[in-house]
Amino acid sequence: MLPYFSGDFGNAASSTHVYGWRAAAAVDIAREQVGAALGAHPDQVIFTSGATESNNLAIVGTARARSRRGRHLITAATEHPSVLDPFRALAKQGYEITVLPVDAGGRIDPQQVAAAITDATTLVSVMAANNEIGTLNPIAEIGGRCRERGVVFHCDAAQAAGKVPLDFTSLPVDLLSVSAHKCYGPKGVGALCVAGRRVRPEPLFHGGGHEGGLRPGTLPVPQIVGMGRAFEIADRGRDEEARRLLRLHGRLWARLHDALGEAVFLNGDAEERLPGNLNVGFRGVDADALITALPDLALSSGSACASAEPGPSHVLKALGLRDDAIRSSLRIGLGRDTSEADVDRAGVRILEEVAKVSERGVVAPQPAPRA
Ligand SMILES: *Cc1c(COP(=O)(O)O)cnc(C)c1O
Repeated sequence: MLPYFSGDFGNAASSTHVYGWRAAAAVDIAREQVGAALGAHPDQVIFTSGATESNNLAIVGTARARSRRGRHLITAATEHPSVLDPFRALAKQGYEITVLPVDAGGRIDPQQVAAAITDATTLVSVMAANNEIGTLNPIAEIGGRCRERGVVFHCDAAQAAGKVPLDFTSLPVDLLSVSAHKCYGPKGVGALCVAGRRVRPEPLFHGGGHEGGLRPGTLPVPQIVGMGRAFEIADRGRDEEARRLLRLHGRLWARLHDALGEAVFLNGDAEERLPGNLNVGFRGVDADALITALPDLALSSGSACASAEPGPSHVLKALGLRDDAIRSSLRIGLGRDTSEADVDRAGVRILEEVAKVSERGVVAPQPAPRA
C-alpha cells in the first residue's frame, strides 16, 4: 500500500498521464485479486468504503430500482445492523419488510424463505456467516429459491469471505458484500459483487461515473491495493487456516467443557459454523464482569458494530436464549495470529476468572439456557 500514499499518488481516474495509468493498473490488479478470491469476474467487483456501504447499496439500491415491480423485502433476525437498519429505513418509507426467524443454532430455513416470497417481493437479504455466533447459512439453497421466483438475492459475506469457500459465479447470489478488514486488510474499504446488469441496484451517490456509475467518487488507491493483497493471501491459505482454527476451536471448547461440564454452553450451530468463532455462555456468570476481569484477552459480548446498541444481543435473542443466558454469553475470536499456546493460556485465564466470579456469589444455579 505504501507507494500509493506518496510516490505513486496518481488518481486512477486520470486517463491522460502515466501517474493515472499507474494507479489504474494497481486498482486493476486488486480487482482481479478480489474477484479471484470470490470466484467473481473482475468487472463484477465494485469497490466501496466497506461492507456497511455495500449492504446499503445492495438493499436500498435494489429496493429503489425495483419499486415499480413490488415493495416487499425479506431479511432475517440475526443480520448485521448494517443490513437491519437499511431495512428499517425502508419500512419507514412504506416498504413491507418480512424478518425471518432462525432455528436454535441461528440458521435460516430455505423453505421459510420460499414461503415468505410473494408476487410483490423484489429482494431477499441473508448473510453467509454470522458475526456474533459464526453460524453459516445454506446460501446456495436460499439463492435457489429466490431464482425460482425471480427475486434478487443479496448476501452479506463480510464474515465468510476468505474463511470458507465462496464462488460467486456458481452460487445463485446476485449481490455479495465483503469487507477488507475482516480479512486482515485495511479498514475503510470493501466491495459489492454485482452479478450483472439485470440485478443492478440504483446508486446511492451521484457524481462521476466511477465503478460503472454504481459508486462515484475518487478511488482510495492505497486501501484498494491493500484489500487486493489481503484477499489474495486469505484465499491462498484458506483451507489450511480453516483446519488449524477448527483444531484450536475444538481444543479451547474441550478445555472449557471438561472443566465446567454443563455449566458452559455453546451458542450457534455446532457443525455449520465459522472455524474461528466461539460464542459461549457460562451459566450464571455475568459475561461483562468476566470480560472486564480479562482485559488481556480480546473478548466481547455482542458485536463491535452494535456496541451502540443497548440491551442484550439481538442475535442471541433470535436463538431463543433467555435474558440470563444472553447476559452470561461472550464471544471469543480466533485468528491468524492465535497460537495453540494462546488458546491454552486463554482457557486457563477464563477458568480462573469464572471460578473467582463464582466464588463472589455471582453464580446461581441456573436452569437450561433456552426458554
Ligand atoms: C463487519 C461486518 C459488516 C460491516 O463491515 P464494515 O466494512 O466494517 O462496514 C457487515 N456485516 C458483517 C456480517 C460484518 O461482520
